[in-house]
Amino acid sequence: MSGRLAVIGLGPGDARFLPPEAADEIAGADALYGYAPYLARLPEQAGQARHASDNREEIARASAALDHAAGGARVAIVSGGDPGVFAMAAAVCEAIDSGPAAWREIEIRVVPGITAMLAVAAAVGAPLGHDFCAISLSDNLKPWDLVERRLDAAASAGFAIALYNPASKARPWQLGAAFDRLRQHLPPATPVIFGRAVGRADERVTVAALADADPAHADMATLVIIGSAATRAIARRGLPPLVYSPRSARA
Ligand code: SAH
Repeated sequence: MSGRLAVIGLGPGDARFLPPEAADEIAGADALYGYAPYLARLPEQAGQARHASDNREEIARASAALDHAAGGARVAIVSGGDPGVFAMAAAVCEAIDSGPAAWREIEIRVVPGITAMLAVAAAVGAPLGHDFCAISLSDNLKPWDLVERRLDAAASAGFAIALYNPASKARPWQLGAAFDRLRQHLPPATPVIFGRAVGRADERVTVAALADADPAHADMATLVIIGSAATRAIARRGLPPLVYSPRSARA
């Protein structure tokens, strides 16, 4: 008997950003799997099992959830933001791709959520209002020279760039190296947005020019958006600047 696996994103923080469909899946699940801090955001429910795991154990977590669902249970696996953006949905697909045939019979529902770059962009205006891309700065799952090539290609092609995983204790220098790289392609005044813990009580959003953007402003809970050469910051008296990328571009 095959069950069902829902892959859920909790949004950037506050429960207001949790889509109703995700809330329904959580309420109806026999068991929840996820990184411990994400599970901690959800109220305990009688009769619902919880399996918290470490951040780096994604394939093991996906496999355990699939095994559980293959036995007929309704299982939900929880990520932050959107589950398909640098998160569990791809890990679940990878596990199915190389796993036992029985896992292909499980009903899989990926519930879309609000990813961090959309929450950060909305906090300052519309920096992703024209063509953009998202890059994870983590070199845990890819080599750093590939990150550099993607930064060069994206900036020189005119994309605004959302940087996920910009810094951590184990990866302290990468964001500074990325800014140095981007300064070779972009004007000094290009807006850089640091959005930390957006949607949570300790949210902090700041805007700097690329010329003096300080990588020390970012940690694991920060998403960084670097504008394109066309991105503008509108100064406002007594209010934070509005940052936007115009909707049209010329070749
Ligand atoms: N699936 C998540 C991303 C996971 S990668 C999503 O769609 O948002 C983890 C990275 O996401 C963090 O290093 C940070 O860059 C970003 N992030 C997640 N939540 C955030 C928040 N509330 N505010 C700012 N950045 C956040």
